[in-house]
Amino acid sequence: MAFNVINEARRCLNCKNPMCRKGCPISTNIPEVIRTFLEGDIDKAGETLFKNNPLSVICSLICNHESQCEGHCVLGRKGAPVHFSNIENYISDNYFEKLDQGAVEELELDKVRKKGMRVGVIGGGPAGMTIAILLARKGYDITIFESREKIGGVLRYGIPEFRLPKELIERYKRLMVSLGIRIRPNTSIGTTITIDDMFRDGYRAIFIGTGVWKPNTLHIKGESLGNVHFAINYLTNPDVYTLGDSLNVIGAGNSAMDVARTALRHGCKRVTVFSRSEHIAASITEVEFAKIDGVEFVTCVEPVEITDEGAVFVNVEHDEEGRHHRIEGTEKLYPASSTIIAVSQGPRNRIVSTTTGLDVTERGLLVTNTFGRTTRDGIFAAGDVVLGARTVVEAVNYSKQVAEAMDEYLCGLDR
Ligand SMILES: Cc1cc2nc3c(=O)[nH]c(=O)nc-3n(C[C@H](O)[C@H](O)[C@H](O)COP(=O)(O)OP(=O)(O)OC[C@H]3O[C@@H](n4cnc5c(N)ncnc54)[C@H](O)[C@@H]3O)c2cc1C
Ligand code: SF4
Repeated sequence: MAFNVINEARRCLNCKNPMCRKGCPISTNIPEVIRTFLEGDIDKAGETLFKNNPLSVICSLICNHESQCEGHCVLGRKGAPVHFSNIENYISDNYFEKLDQGAVEELELDKVRKKGMRVGVIGGGPAGMTIAILLARKGYDITIFESREKIGGVLRYGIPEFRLPKELIERYKRLMVSLGIRIRPNTSIGTTITIDDMFRDGYRAIFIGTGVWKPNTLHIKGESLGNVHFAINYLTNPDVYTLGDSLNVIGAGNSAMDVARTALRHGCKRVTVFSRSEHIAASITEVEFAKIDGVEFVTCVEPVEITDEGAVFVNVEHDEEGRHHRIEGTEKLYPASSTIIAVSQGPRNRIVSTTTGLDVTERGLLVTNTFGRTTRDGIFAAGDVVLGARTVVEAVNYSKQVAEAMDEYLCGLDR
């Protein structure tokens, strides 16, 4: 392999107070994993990673390492940090391959005593996958209800193949099937089947991990034109879009980078990303890769209208408090054949509108306590539908705690 993970692991100082671990949202025990790996026990290192974070192999590829684990490594203060994400990827990929082949025994279901209790998981994204795996391993009968054709959520229908190979999600599907988890694809809860139907059919607890799939809008003229699209819709299936030669992307977060880089790979010749602030919101690495791909950036502008010919922006300046002010008279058309709006998403209300007793915030996010209990007994939630648009590792971390809370709740019920 091009990058020598063994040499990289040897650079670890094995700090007594590991800052890398503090920087990781799921507190991966990085020094212990590295130590075990260097001692020659890669299976144990893999098991440690998987038990702490069932989506470790995915996080190793798509976490914002530079501001999390690697950004906190003390070696990074004077030079290069230990690139733990590469080490994690090597170990977790190896472990997962063995899981796939049944070559490690840790997860074998015959060791798990079945509890004979049904649990419904709505949404097959990172939050739902984590809950399903953890509760199946505790002996619950799990069914995942997924509104789309395949599981994975944003991992499949948002993050492009060049950043996250979809085969990884297929591996997770095989793992879940081997754990006895049932998957109902093309089944949107809150339409034909409701949560009350699920309780009627014997589900003792229900988990909602439906994410945020309703694009935020700009509320400006032109958003309904035929050459204007929303990022999350485009990324779901870029092949069906005809964008033409040039694209304006409004918004500069990680989704905007995914849109820009995907459009260039689908034939767009010129892609420009527009940001209201001077600072680009996406991670440094994603911006660097976008620039290498040829994406152009325009900062300190705000869109005022989208037309058939492109988008009109006005220059903005920022005061000391960080508030932005338009500079009148600076309106300018930036020509492009299409425009994609990438200014985040909020939740849909399909489940909330068909279920009594579920409170939501002003933004429509589900209200829960710290252990994921919603305002209705027996219904739990985690991930983006509670936190708003965040990250995979945060969705997994939260879901881990919720799985424990659900287990405790279920253990307290009559069989
Ligand atoms: C373009 C893009 C790029 C991103 N890049 C990164 C990144 O590089 N790194 C990172 O850490 N995070 C990234 N994120 C954020 C990350 O993907 C999310 O925080 C994470 O996926 C949240 O997981 P979730 O399970 O809560 O929701 P989701 O991944 O949204 O999954 C929810 C699932 O529920 C299903 N569903 C919705 N409604 C229903 C219903 N009524 N019935 C049944 N099923 C339903 C959906 O189809 C979906 O499969 C990105 C997000 C986007 C949009
Ligand atoms: S889960 Fe993410 S932040 Fe934590 S160690 Fe792995 S790559 Fe780093």
